[in-house]
Amino acid sequence: MPSKAIITVKDLVKSYGDFEAVKGISFEVYEGEIFGLLGPNGAGKSTTLEIIETLRNKTSGTVIVDGVNLEEAPEEIKKMIGVQLQTSGFYPNLNLTELIHLFVGLYQSEVDPLELLKKVNLEDKAKAKYKELSGGQKQRFSIATTLINKPKIIFLDEPTTGLDPQARRNLWDLIKEIRNNATTVIITTHYMDEAEILCDRVAIVDSGKIIAINTPSSLIDELVATGFEKEKVVKNANLEDVFIQLTGKEWREE
Ligand code: ADP
Ligand code: MG
Repeated sequence: MPSKAIITVKDLVKSYGDFEAVKGISFEVYEGEIFGLLGPNGAGKSTTLEIIETLRNKTSGTVIVDGVNLEEAPEEIKKMIGVQLQTSGFYPNLNLTELIHLFVGLYQSEVDPLELLKKVNLEDKAKAKYKELSGGQKQRFSIATTLINKPKIIFLDEPTTGLDPQARRNLWDLIKEIRNNATTVIITTHYMDEAEILCDRVAIVDSGKIIAINTPSSLIDELVATGFEKEKVVKNANLEDVFIQLTGKEWREE
């Protein structure tokens, strides 16, 4: 894949009062990749995402999104990105079609709700209320709302936290499909198995600094090259494999 940067972050700093949450980080996100931001709670992942999403002000540094400087034209950036809306905006008594109409109005874009729901495999739920959805369906709907304005880039902050194994796999398929349709995806997750399967490249953030950035495979190779060894795996499956095997036949049709 030719690596053209669609997001360039340079020396980004964010202070909350005296506390520096993001300490001068620089990285690029390539067009058409799934880029993962990994790191412990409080590392500064959400802060970084929200600055790029134009939802928070930076303290210093440069952010360029598809050639547009955040400082000069945040409105331009807003138009080309998809952000997960706060679920508190999902009026519990409206059905999904009504909610999409509401959001489409906010974005002043033209979208066929059914077509959008189809993209996330929720067409059967067009008349269901948000509160009637399962956790996985709620996440899929939330991802659908990021696609309303046909964005070039979508931002997903811990989209699979709290989901069961099937729903998580279901979401991986969806996120890959979105990437395969030429949308760049930036995602945060605490699940390393997920990052390894899903992300083309990851940045590991710790205490506001990027301490590693590469493909998952190269990061693993680098660790192994240092002589790192772990206890050999003695079984060819793990408990999650058992769980999926026993309960997961339908995970694509949740
Ligand atoms: P992550 O998403 O990696 O868990 P965050 O970006 O949410 O981390 O937070 C990074 C640090 O900044 C944390 O120490 C957090 O407590 C602090 N922080 C986040 N938002 C605010 C805020 N609005 N005011 C003060 N401190 C904040
Ligand atoms: Mg966070």
